Amino acid sequence: MGIVVAVDGPSGAGKSSTSRAVATRAKWDYLDTGALYRGVTWLAQREKVSEPYEVVDALKKHPLIIATNPENPTLFCGDIDITEAIRSQAVTDQVSEISAHPEIRQHLLELQQKLIKRAMRGIVVEGRDIGTVVAPEAALKIFLTADLSARAQRREKEIDSPAQLLSSATLEESLAQRDLLDSTRSTSPLMIAADAITIDSTELSLHETAQRIWELLKERRLLGLPIVALLGRPNVGKSTLINRFLGRREAIVEDTPGVTRDRVTYECEWNGRDFMVMDTGGWEAKPDGISVGVSGIAELAMQEADVLALVIDSQVGALDEDDVLIRELRKMKKPIILVANKVDGPAEEAQAHSLWNLGLGEPQFVSALHGRASGDLLDKIVKVLPEVGGAQSQDGYRRVALIGRPNVGKSSLLNILAGSTRALVDDVAGTTRDPVDELIELGGSIWRFIDTAGIRKRANQASGTDYYATLRTQVALERAEVAVVVLDASNPISEQDLRIITMVEEAGKALIIVMNKWDLVDEDRQITLDREIDRHLDQVEWAQRVNLAAKTGWHRDRLAPALRTSLTSWEKRIPTSRLNSFLGTLIAATPPPVRGGKQPKILYATQAGIAPPRFVIFTTGFLESSYRRFIERRLREEFGFPGTPIQISVRVRERE
Ligand code: C5P
Repeated sequence: MGIVVAVDGPSGAGKSSTSRAVATRAKWDYLDTGALYRGVTWLAQREKVSEPYEVVDALKKHPLIIATNPENPTLFCGDIDITEAIRSQAVTDQVSEISAHPEIRQHLLELQQKLIKRAMRGIVVEGRDIGTVVAPEAALKIFLTADLSARAQRREKEIDSPAQLLSSATLEESLAQRDLLDSTRSTSPLMIAADAITIDSTELSLHETAQRIWELLKERRLLGLPIVALLGRPNVGKSTLINRFLGRREAIVEDTPGVTRDRVTYECEWNGRDFMVMDTGGWEAKPDGISVGVSGIAELAMQEADVLALVIDSQVGALDEDDVLIRELRKMKKPIILVANKVDGPAEEAQAHSLWNLGLGEPQFVSALHGRASGDLLDKIVKVLPEVGGAQSQDGYRRVALIGRPNVGKSSLLNILAGSTRALVDDVAGTTRDPVDELIELGGSIWRFIDTAGIRKRANQASGTDYYATLRTQVALERAEVAVVVLDASNPISEQDLRIITMVEEAGKALIIVMNKWDLVDEDRQITLDREIDRHLDQVEWAQRVNLAAKTGWHRDRLAPALRTSLTSWEKRIPTSRLNSFLGTLIAATPPPVRGGKQPKILYATQAGIAPPRFVIFTTGFLESSYRRFIERRLREEFGFPGTPIQISVRVRERE
């Protein structure tokens, strides 16, 4: 589920036009719930029924299918397009009466909530009871109103068929009548939600009204930043470019194939526009013997980003690997910018012209080294960048990756957790989206279980299943906050299990180890298992552990508390003063070992970040890794951190 904006108000206040304008601008979904009530009324009239249960029966036989595209919000009843028909006077006259029936409202409520849940980025929902009943947790609630006469005038302008022409007085009367019915019915009447912002549009144009809502969205930071992905082979200069973009605010390390950086995205600003740059450097490690040109992170970046920038080293030119990447890039149907880097002189410039042949349009010449034209490149990026990012899901649901080697029981676990609350995502005209996560209710909260099905086909075609499994895991981890690694407790812990656990640790995600098939663990196995755990899992002693049996559901209620504990640790922050007084005591008792005749002094420490907690220790000399581990152990003893990896780095200060 994306961001929900609720727009309620009386008829003719301009809800539809405003909501559509906002949704279009943000590239979000749009839901006109009034159209649904009109659709029901149309159906009741066609079937000549009026009793609520008859109407609901008719609806079950002829379901309403609404498209949530703000630019073309069609409504079908079965396979009949009723987009126009529901605007007839006959429907308008009866809709408030029909929509007052609780049974009918209940039926439509479920449909509305399903449609809202499915919106990946965001959705603007308009109606009468959205902020109060349908989406009480909406991120922004607007109550849009206007004087009765202004509303009647607007309606008058909308009516273009002479047969429907009513006098202004009649129109006003009809609106007033509908307002009265809508606000006085006993089930979910038109009301101003306590936390709604009222906008009176009597004196405002459509544009002005939409602009107000836009400003509110911005103020509340609900419009995610657009993302530019920098793709390309290792050592083409991606990191140098990013450093240019960042203006050296936050310099990052060089491309080192196979070495993952601790961050993937960086915030940039150019000409007053804010956006994110997604770095795919350092991730290109290719699986042995299989020629796959697109790494998991590149795949992820392509899916998440709004603009794709392909960087080529013009001193080398395009290689076969670039072709593979280009083929994938084209499939994304997103703006692509071709960056010819390292154009440091006339010779390279001549060479760089040949990149026109790639068919990606004009290559942008830059020399990251000399800073040449990186401003022009940024101009070009900003020009094609949408106003709002496409892939953010700031819905507040915690993101969980359920991973593990094959046959450990991941799907049975998912099934038993999902039970009947599984938010299934079916196909409705005009809304197909990939990838689709699964929303599951556990222990009183909803969790987003990450789905990586979207990468299945391409990865599969390209390679063996082993690589495919790793890729899936990597992509899931990249998107997740917490990983649930499922092990088969009835079988020995394997190399592959450990590899997966290491991946979680390296990705810096919170970790829960599920010992599944616990029903098969007898006394003998328990003894060997204890030994295996001691031997193999001591490096992740901090992980939360849950023993369960997915098949029967035994102990499945232990998972939600474990998820909460590890996420709390993952985001925990230790105040600098507490950290330093702890460290002071620790050093006094056990000073760092002497190295080369000198004893490094620890100056101070600070927590540089959370998710996972990252600490930086400033010293006058190198600290042995055993001493760092010792600090980590003590840090955990003192402050906890169950369920999360923590990272400690040491910065050596040159003595002045
Ligand atoms: O928005 P519109 O004027 O098309 O809505 C038609 C009618 O549908 C309203 O007058 C109201 O009776 C009903 N409705 C409702 N609850 C909603 C949306 C519309 O009862 N959320």
